[in-house]
Amino acid sequence: MKKILFVTSECVPFVKTGGLGDVVGALPKVLNKKGCDARVILPKYGAIPQQYKDQMRYIDHIYIKMNWRSQYCGIFELDHDGVKYYFIDNEFYFGSPTVYGPIHEDIERFAFFDKAVLAMLQVVDFFPDVLHCNDWQTGMVPVLLRAHYSYDGRYNAMKSVMTIHNLKFQGIYDKKTIADVCELSADYFTPDKLEFYRDASFLKGGLVYADYITTVSPTYAQEIKSDYFGERLNGLLNARSGSLCGIVNGISYDDWNPATDKFIYHNYDLARLDEKNDNKLALQKDLGFEQNTEKLLIGMVTRLTGQKGMDLVECVMDSILANPNIQIVVLGTGEQRYENVLRFFEWKYSGRVSAQIKFDNALSHKIYAGCDAFLMPSLFEPCGLSQMISMRYGTLPIVRETGGLKDTVEPYNQYENTGTGYSFANYNAHEMLNRIENAYLTFALNHGAWRDMQKRAMEKDFSWNASADRYIELYNRL
Ligand code: ADP
Repeated sequence: MKKILFVTSECVPFVKTGGLGDVVGALPKVLNKKGCDARVILPKYGAIPQQYKDQMRYIDHIYIKMNWRSQYCGIFELDHDGVKYYFIDNEFYFGSPTVYGPIHEDIERFAFFDKAVLAMLQVVDFFPDVLHCNDWQTGMVPVLLRAHYSYDGRYNAMKSVMTIHNLKFQGIYDKKTIADVCELSADYFTPDKLEFYRDASFLKGGLVYADYITTVSPTYAQEIKSDYFGERLNGLLNARSGSLCGIVNGISYDDWNPATDKFIYHNYDLARLDEKNDNKLALQKDLGFEQNTEKLLIGMVTRLTGQKGMDLVECVMDSILANPNIQIVVLGTGEQRYENVLRFFEWKYSGRVSAQIKFDNALSHKIYAGCDAFLMPSLFEPCGLSQMISMRYGTLPIVRETGGLKDTVEPYNQYENTGTGYSFANYNAHEMLNRIENAYLTFALNHGAWRDMQKRAMEKDFSWNASADRYIELYNRL
């Protein structure tokens, strides 16, 4: 079985700012259960909780050349939940309490990290078959592997995979700085390699030099080859399309299970689906809404940004609420403009709209369990976890057909009684409104069809099991 090293800038439970942390926190565990030797390496950030720092074992230290300076690089390890984690220590680079900083600092920090990853392999004597890199922070690993280590057979035998979790973030900086901190000669900074519109890009380096590129859903893998989604890398991604595929993320079935969830009001499952209503009534009470199972309760749990389709929601909120039988709860934080829009609607539709402007894990569970429908009209969505969570809780998603939303939500077909939710194609507020109205009609007038759809949604397999098999196939193919 394959030896894999996940190179990452975040990983649950040590440090997380987004979906990347969840993925790297879950996938290696599942791979190891299937017989792989998957390990993870990340920086030893100041932000990692002390309880984990206390458990780390010091292995050794080396020095990494950063231009004319030599930087201390401590190597620590920790075994946790069946996975071995390595941590790269340097107070100057990673001691601060925040994970990411300004780009001019992050370029040097992650250049150091990427160099350290390759250098430490000989110290711990672990030579993986595959270096699995994630997002721009680790993009230099495939480059440096070929640039600095091709003389060494142990390194030469390694393959590299670059996974794109969000193409928007690319690690772009001027060529001279990147050449200096990465110790790369000028011939690496041509348009077919690291050069990117006169600057240079970490992510582009990874995409050029990795043996294989993956992203987190098949549809997003297609979309990023277009001008619209390609973030100026679509030309390169088209050129490499023979080595590019999308594998959807899974969700943690331990954390997200209505039968055992400790955060929700009443546990339920497929056989006791009626008890989902107890969650709805309790949530309505908590939010100050009328407690009435006939009302369609729609939830959103989201970062409040343009990516998540907040403009569409703002545009047709009045039209949605023209139906007196609809209630809406939004849990999220983000851009102030959207936070204020939601507060305004809460004031205007008092008792029918609730704006929960905060990050609250417990409340998010209550919303997934208590709502009838879940709205996610994203502009783009590499994979998306929330729609899968809501389906697992029998809460039917209403989504825009993009990226992972398209791959995971099957639209309702009333004639064949198939589908697990509602979807619309264009980034258009009235298309979204129309789908919400359709959902309401089925909910109010066709209980049987609604209940069947809930069951189909809950029966879908969104665990990591299938996706881990796809990764193993890929590693074997390399
Ligand atoms: P993204 O990673 O783009 O933000 P995903 O749908 O992939 O979107 O994942 C978002 C995750 O973060 C979900 O698990 C969701 O429940 C959670 N989440 C987002 N906002 C909040 C919030 N305000 N409070 C609690 N959980 C949140």
